Amino acid sequence: MENKSAFKDRVKIAVQDDYLQKSVQNAQERFRTQREMAMNDLGNFQEWRNRAQEIRAHVIENLDSYLEQLSENVEKNGGYVYFAATKEEAVEYVTQLAKKKQAKSVIKSKSMVSEEIHLNQALEKLDVEVVESDLGEYIIQLAKETPSHIIAPAIHKNRKQIAELFSRVAGETLSDDTKTLTAFARRQLREKFLKADIGISGCNFAIAESGSVVLVTNEGNGRLTTTLPKTHVAIMGMERLVPTWEDLDVLLSLLPRSATGQRITSYVTAITGPRKHEDGDGPEEFHLVIVDNGRSSILGTRYQQVLNCIRCGACLNVCPVYRHIGGHAYGGVYSGPIGAVLTPLLEGIEKWKELPYASSLCGACTDVCPVKIPLHDYLIFLRQDVVDAKLTPFSERMAFKGFGFAAERKAIYDFSVAMAHKVLKPFSNESHIEKGPGPLSDWTDVKDFPLPPKDSFRSWWKEEKGGDKIGK
Ligand code: SF4
Repeated sequence: MENKSAFKDRVKIAVQDDYLQKSVQNAQERFRTQREMAMNDLGNFQEWRNRAQEIRAHVIENLDSYLEQLSENVEKNGGYVYFAATKEEAVEYVTQLAKKKQAKSVIKSKSMVSEEIHLNQALEKLDVEVVESDLGEYIIQLAKETPSHIIAPAIHKNRKQIAELFSRVAGETLSDDTKTLTAFARRQLREKFLKADIGISGCNFAIAESGSVVLVTNEGNGRLTTTLPKTHVAIMGMERLVPTWEDLDVLLSLLPRSATGQRITSYVTAITGPRKHEDGDGPEEFHLVIVDNGRSSILGTRYQQVLNCIRCGACLNVCPVYRHIGGHAYGGVYSGPIGAVLTPLLEGIEKWKELPYASSLCGACTDVCPVKIPLHDYLIFLRQDVVDAKLTPFSERMAFKGFGFAAERKAIYDFSVAMAHKVLKPFSNESHIEKGPGPLSDWTDVKDFPLPPKDSFRSWWKEEKGGDKIGK
């Protein structure tokens, strides 16, 4: 259960972790520079963004009909479609399938939705071995951690830590050079691919007009996951649709560029149903699990555009707060600005009321978003929701009530301003308050609060300009 102290504790730990900050900063800088270079080749980036936003907004406004079209086409291609209203329903469907297939092992390609529904844990309870095949996911699976970045899940780990994790599996000490580590992972995973009964993948985009599922990977693990096991299950958030291949072209031009600054990723895999007679390989069965899990409750609200997100991670790569605290401090599956917006919307503002405040509101996330989600506006709206639901601390509510009361009454306001300096002076070092009293300590624990000046602007104006003309 999310709570304020848990959030504060996670932030405190994160800001003291120099290594974490350094690696996040390095990655942010690399991704940002590469992104700018890759965007320049597109010519007019704003036009691409406008087009991408139009496509996504059109899909979300017509989600029901596109989902119907997708589902009909998947079934026409010989696949099965399951709509899961909740995470429990999605997990139940996949675990029942695993039981039916008497699966002993599952190989997975990266899927944030499967993190969202805690699928691995449910399968492991059935004694099914689950192996992540994306290298970053494999690393964090061995470390028993959650992803700290949407597209670079192990961004917070260094080579030495990875070598230690791999050595534990190898039963011998491995050197921490990249070649040794990747060769070890390749050997391990190759064996897991070959023996897996079920392959589970995410879905970057589903194409309504053909009933296809498109995966974007850099390691080719998506292809092996979806081809070698006899059964392939793709899990998608219900919003990850595009109407046509032409629309996909626009979004695929923006996704890797926004994510890692690559013009295109190494592998783009499109899957249209199970293996056909003429196919040399592919699964015998294909299942598409379409997960709602709170998404439909966002439809028709002022937050609807958050469903436009293509999970590129660009907003994380420019966020000064993410830069200092990394992904785990956010506490949810999705981190950074998109996580601070999406998590409270999917799981409830009460549980995640701290997240909208994990932002400087600088607007860099909104500027960089390839589908133009107004992230920083949404963070402000969510703060309003937190206040409206009376989820802010009692002391803060009283302070603002008191301020409102005083601000409407000139005599009380003038008196309070005149007293502020005197009352707070004992807690100050002449210019700043470093250890504030009562609820003010929440602020002064992390920042210095300026001591209100001895004379108010009004009294200065009166004295210097010889009259109280303000506001007249
Ligand atoms: S909100 Fe925008 S920038 Fe952030 S992950 Fe989604 S699409 Fe990318």
